[in-house]
Amino acid sequence: MTTNKFSAKAHTRPEHNYSVFHQGLLHENNSEDYALRHIYSVENTKALLKKWGWSDEQVKQGIDHATIDVYKHQVWLRIPGNIEKRKETVKIRGISRFISKLDYVDILIKRCWDKADPYKLEPGDNWDELIARGNTGDFYEVKLYKHEITCTCHAYSGIEKAFSQDYVATKHLMLHPKAQGQTPDKHVFAAWKYIGAETLNQYQYCWLERRDAAMREMQKWGDDFDDDGDDEIMTY
Ligand SMILES: [Zn+2]
Repeated sequence: MTTNKFSAKAHTRPEHNYSVFHQGLLHENNSEDYALRHIYSVENTKALLKKWGWSDEQVKQGIDHATIDVYKHQVWLRIPGNIEKRKETVKIRGISRFISKLDYVDILIKRCWDKADPYKLEPGDNWDELIARGNTGDFYEVKLYKHEITCTCHAYSGIEKAFSQDYVATKHLMLHPKAQGQTPDKHVFAAWKYIGAETLNQYQYCWLERRDAAMREMQKWGDDFDDDGDDEIMTY
């Protein structure tokens, strides 16, 4: 099981007996542990603990000792109340309970939203395309469809695969008041911010407006072209 060492410790503790569902999420090639990496990640767990009132220090002390076990309908999270530090037992803030998958889906959406920067987007070749530039000169294509946005970045495809591994998480994504089924990704949400939407409903409305504006623009160009033609005929 050498490949497992690259997976988060919280997902692979040898002393813990993980659920069958969780074991199904662990793949031989750990880069395919999409749901564990993108939805039930250590980073999302840290954000959840902070949301529940844990201080930065409490999170820092406990997170390396966390066990995250994903069941079919919920997630079991445990951080022990005592840890061993330099041969001494230290009391830390602990937790040991089941968490709704909605909490994980919600925090993933929130984190993507917070990271979304509309100023990193540029217009693409067409009205329904935007270009997201990364820091290293790489770029991704953000495509605006009527009912969703797709992105060519790695995170987007990973998150999409993560949801395809977890039906209950997908259900929460579909019912989420903001995302309403939209695969969350920082470039996708940057595009929402870019065109002035905060929910999928608003996005769909903005999309129609954007399309109509683009159509009017094309019409105008067409008319201008005709005018130019007329002018030429008049001049000669
Ligand atoms: Zn993206």
